Order: sequence, then C-alpha cells, then structure tokens
Amino acid sequence: MVDHFCGNEHLCQEFCEDDGVCKVVIEPKQQITRTKYIQSNEKLKCSKKIPPNEFEHIGKHTHKEDGFHYCNVKCKYCEYYCTLPYGHTQIHETRHGNMKPNEFTSDDNFEFTGQEVLCNLKCKGLGRHPHVDYCQNEENCRLGNQRIDIQHIDERAHPHPDRPKDLISHKLYWERTGFKDPYSVQEQKEFAKWNHERMD
Ligand SMILES: [Zn+2]
Ligand SMILES: [Zn+2]
Ligand SMILES: [Zn+2]
Ligand SMILES: [Zn+2]
Ligand SMILES: [Zn+2]
Ligand SMILES: [Zn+2]
Ligand SMILES: [Zn+2]
Repeated sequence: MVDHFCGNEHLCQEFCEDDGVCKVVIEPKQQITRTKYIQSNEKLKCSKKIPPNEFEHIGKHTHKEDGFHYCNVKCKYCEYYCTLPYGHTQIHETRHGNMKPNEFTSDDNFEFTGQEVLCNLKCKGLGRHPHVDYCQNEENCRLGNQRIDIQHIDERAHPHPDRPKDLISHKLYWERTGFKDPYSVQEQKEFAKWNHERMD
C-alpha cells in the first residue's frame, strides 16, 4: 500500500500470502552444555512492485510468483519442517533434528549424560523394541479388536498414571507422525520383531 504519488515505482511492503512455508530458518540455541538447533519459519516480504501512481499492485502478495513453498507440517518429535513442497500428497519427509524432550522421553539418558539425541538416531541399536503411547481406544483394546502391534498396558504407568497407555510398534509410532520412518529397512525389520510371538 502506497500513501503518496511521487511518480516512482514502489516495492510492496506486505508479506507473502501464499500457503505453506516461504523459508525455514535454523537457529542455534546455545545451552549450558550443548548447542541445540531449532527450526522456525519465516514469512518473506512480497517482491512485487507497485507501479507509479497506483496504491497497490494487482493480485496476491507473494515472495516469488509460483515460488517454492515448503509443507507446513513438523515432525512432532524434533519439530523440523517437512522438506517437501506445500500441498504434496505423499508421506511427509524431513532430515530430522534434535529430539524435543516430551513426556515419554524426558527420563531418557540424555537428561543425565547431556548427550543430544537426534530424532532419527534415537532407536538406533535398540534391536526389537516397542514405544509407549496413550491408548486411543480402550474399548477396542478390551475386546481385542485393535491392531496386532498395539498391546494395552494394564498397570498404571508414568507419565499421567490415570491415562491408559499402550505399547505400540516402532512402525505405528512413526505412522502416527505422518512422517516416513527414517530408519533403514533392515533396522525396521529388526525393530518389528518386538511382538513377534503374538504375530506368529
Ligand atoms: Zn515515492
Ligand atoms: Zn512465500
Ligand atoms: Zn504485495
Ligand atoms: Zn523428527
Ligand atoms: Zn509434508
Ligand atoms: Zn489400549
Ligand atoms: Zn523405535
């Protein structure tokens, strides 16, 4: 929006209105013992010019006509943005970063060792293993109608002992993020043996 007519062209000062993420910014966050990297997204300024003696340009504000915009979905474990274009239809993908501590991981080793855990390395070398998640359908669990890789936990378990929980497969743990499992096919096969007694 221009507030005067001086006979010159003006650069639009508004922000890009396109859907999706214009630019992903990686910021180092210095902590006492380690540097963490967190991602945030930046809306870029509109790059259109406003012709002389006009208030506005025609059309939407955009940082670049038909420019690339990233998908705005973040991995829920590391909060890194999907690296695919906005509006893609296949499963989300990213290169993953430092795990953000959550209720299920806060008592993990790195709290004590000061070792940073990368989202895509957390399960490395674990062999067969399940993950813990909140139960999403107690009724189905009771009736045995749930997926074979969901095992209801009958004991009260931390965190939030009052909320029922399940042991779930590594595969389902990643399915619930909507992101592609970042581990190799070989590792995924090994991880999946967690409940193979029940599968046989
Ligand atoms: Zn002017
Ligand atoms: Zn943009
Ligand atoms: Zn504009
Ligand atoms: Zn991640
Ligand atoms: Zn995506
Ligand atoms: Zn359950
Ligand atoms: Zn896992």
